[in-house]
Amino acid sequence: MKDLSKRVHQNVLEAIGNTPLIRLNRVLGRCPTQLWAQVEFFNPGGSIKDRIGVAIIEAAERSGALKPGGTVVESTAGNTGIGLAIAASLKGYNCIFTLPDKMSNEKVKLLKAFGADVIITPSAVSPDSPENYVNVARRIVEETPNAILADQFGNPENPETHYRTTGPEIWEQVGGRIDVFVCGAGTGGTISGVGRYLKERNPDVRVVAADPYGSGFKEYFESERMGHSSVYLVEGIGSDKMHTTLHLEYVDEFRNVSDRDSFLTARRLTREEGLLVGGSSGTIVHVALQLAQELNDEKRVVVCILPDSGERYLSKFHSDEWMREKRMLETDKVLVQVLLDNKPPSFAGVISAEGTITGREALDLMNKHNISQLPLIEKGESVGSLKEGRLMNAVLKDSSVLDAPVKPSMANPFPVVSYQDTLEHVTRLLTRGNGAVLARRAGRIVGIVTRYDIIHFLTQRQ
Ligand code: PMP
Repeated sequence: MKDLSKRVHQNVLEAIGNTPLIRLNRVLGRCPTQLWAQVEFFNPGGSIKDRIGVAIIEAAERSGALKPGGTVVESTAGNTGIGLAIAASLKGYNCIFTLPDKMSNEKVKLLKAFGADVIITPSAVSPDSPENYVNVARRIVEETPNAILADQFGNPENPETHYRTTGPEIWEQVGGRIDVFVCGAGTGGTISGVGRYLKERNPDVRVVAADPYGSGFKEYFESERMGHSSVYLVEGIGSDKMHTTLHLEYVDEFRNVSDRDSFLTARRLTREEGLLVGGSSGTIVHVALQLAQELNDEKRVVVCILPDSGERYLSKFHSDEWMREKRMLETDKVLVQVLLDNKPPSFAGVISAEGTITGREALDLMNKHNISQLPLIEKGESVGSLKEGRLMNAVLKDSSVLDAPVKPSMANPFPVVSYQDTLEHVTRLLTRGNGAVLARRAGRIVGIVTRYDIIHFLTQRQ
C-alpha cells in the first residue's frame, strides 16, 4: 500500500516536485531500449518551472531582497511565471511578467488567472533590443519600488534547484540505472542541475540536449560562436543568447529538431501514451527515441523530461486546424533546414559573388571551390547566376570576357526559399530548370541546394 502520509500537504507548495517517472511504451515501436519520462505536468502549475518559482522567491526572502508586499518581475515563456505566481499568491507578493508574443494565449490567461500583470513583447527582435522581453523586465524592476527580478536566466538558484530536487528524484526512481538523460535547454537550469547531479553520481551518464532548429545553442556548443538564430514555434526551449544558467560542461551533445517533428511527437505522446504534453516534450522525446533506437538494447535506460502540459497548447499544435494551417500535418515532409544542416561541413554556406566580378575571377572561384555554378548576390538579394560551361563558351568566343565584369554572361537568378520551406517545394523548383535554389534564414541568404544535394541527402537517409 502507498504511504498516503506523503500525499498530505500543508499547502500547495509542498506538492511541488516528486513527480512520477512513467515508462513510454507504444511510441518506441519494436525498439527494446527502456525509455522513461519524468512527467512534470503533475506539478500544481502544470510545469517543471514550479520547482524554481518557489525556490527563487524563498531565496530572495532569505537574502532580504524581497520584502513583504514586494513585486516579483520576470521575463518568461509563461511557465516560470506560473510557478512564481503560485508561490507569490501564497506569500502575498505582486507579479509582473513580460512574455514574447509567440507564447500561447492559454499561458497569458493562466498568468492573469493567478492575478499577475502580463506585458506582451515582440518575439522577432534581437536580444539587445529594448523591446526584448528580458530587457523590458529589467526596466520594469528599475521603475517599480520594492521589486525584484526573478532572473531565471541568471539566477544560480535555478540550476541549483534541479541539482537539489529533479536530479536526485530521477536517480532514486531509476535506482541509479541510467545510461542517457535527454532534456531541453531554455534557461538551461534543468539540464545543468540534473546533468551535474547525474554525472557526479556516475560520470558515464550521457547528457543530451534537444534543441529546436533556429536556436543558437547547438552551434554555440560546437563552435563557441552564437550563430544566426531564426524564429521557431516550439515554446520554452532554445535561445539566441547564452545564459549563465546553462552549464555546458554537463552536456555531451546537442541535437536539433524541427517544429514539425516536435509537434508530431507531442501529439503521438498524447494519443499513444495518454500523456497530454507541450511542444518541448515532443522535441525532447524525438531525440530520446533516436537515442533509444541507436542503443537498441533492452538493458539500456534512457530518461527524459516532459516539461509541461499540453493543455496550454490546445489552440496551437494540439489543434488539427492549426497544424494544417502551418502545413505540418502532411507526412514525410522534410524541411530545407534539415538538408542544409546535414550537408558535409566543406559544402556548408554559399559561395557567391557580385555582378562586378570578372570572368577570370569567377572561373578561378568556381575552380577553387570545385563548383560549376555561382550565384550572384548583391545587397542580400539573388540578382543572377553564372554557369561554368556557359562562361567558358563566352570566353572561347571572345577572350575579352575574361577581364570584363560578368554581368552580360549571367543567367537568371536562382530562386530563394525560406529555411522552413519543404524539400518537395525545392525539388519542384529544381525540376523546372533552375540550376540551384538559395535558402534564406533571418533575412540572409545562407544556403544553396542543388540537384546533387537532394540526391546525396536522399541516398544518405535510406
Ligand atoms: N520546456 C518548457 C515548456 C519550458 O517552459 C521550459 C522553461 N523555459 C523548458 C522546457 C526548459 O527548461 P530550462 O529553462 O530549465 O532549460
